[in-house]
Amino acid sequence: SASDAGEGGLVVATHGRHVVVETDEGQRLICHPRGKKSEAVVGDRVRWEHTLEGGDEGVIINVAERKNLLYRQDEWRSKSFAANLDQLLMWIAVEPVFSEAQLTRALIAARSADIPATIVLNKTDLPGTPTARERLAPYVAMGYPVVEISLKQDTEAARAQMEPLLGGRATLVLGPSGAGKSTLINTLLPNARAEVGEISQALNSGRHTTTSSLWYWLDDTRQGAVIDSPGFQEFGLHHIAPTELQRLMPDIAAHMNDCRFHNCTHRQEPGCAVQAAVAKGEISEMRLSLYTALFDELSQPRW
Ligand code: GDP
Ligand code: ZN
Repeated sequence: SASDAGEGGLVVATHGRHVVVETDEGQRLICHPRGKKSEAVVGDRVRWEHTLEGGDEGVIINVAERKNLLYRQDEWRSKSFAANLDQLLMWIAVEPVFSEAQLTRALIAARSADIPATIVLNKTDLPGTPTARERLAPYVAMGYPVVEISLKQDTEAARAQMEPLLGGRATLVLGPSGAGKSTLINTLLPNARAEVGEISQALNSGRHTTTSSLWYWLDDTRQGAVIDSPGFQEFGLHHIAPTELQRLMPDIAAHMNDCRFHNCTHRQEPGCAVQAAVAKGEISEMRLSLYTALFDELSQPRW
């Protein structure tokens, strides 16, 4: 059958329809999907075989069942970009000031895929730290772990904080540009960039496609990995139904069962416990307005 034909491998990079597969022997080769069903993303376990011409290219013949799958917003549609993750690390910083909309979107995407999320606040050497901490307080209250680090000022301490967090797991690290994600990868994985860079160069020669994601092993034991998505803009949430949204936002979910109407959308309805919680300051106005905006977005006709 297709599931045991060919050889096993792991997708470690993608550029459009080109995929870089790391074989079970640790070799890397460029592969193409055989058809729509064998289109793979970073983190996918695949079966592949050499193209008929021999050579160093291959064809993906089968993608193994995924534990989870994440989507990014790609113009007007959601596009899958990473699979089989153990955790999401939202990498933000005191400066530039992080967007709660982006953070909320990421946490919703992770929860919907059943992926645990941790927030890392970098640059805590900067004077804006108390303000950033205050803005993160509602997320701490919702149960999201927040790790404060200063990668640049105290690199060794940061390394000691990051290693147990990353060890043995496949971690997608995402965050806005300027927050120090490159510094992190260069600090933890000094050789990784060069390794992947070679393959990326080969793939990119003569073209201008950007890499969508890259898989970096933490070390030679290949137990843990960091997945980087340079150029990542925003999570795609179109696979989520508007009525499902409230369950994916823990602060809203904590009150939704106390609303008078079981199908309350927490906007104009009388007896809305979510609105009441906002009035009492138990849910931030920001989070309710993000919920409302996302509800509208997800209610748009789908493509
Ligand atoms: P990226 O866009 O997320 O990849 O961010 P970079 O790694 O390029 O970092 C952006 C800027 O933030 C650089 O000038 C870094 O030196 C700086 N930076 C990184 N970590 C820290 C930190 O802990 N504290 C401060 N003050 N600056 C940092
Ligand atoms: Zn309500």
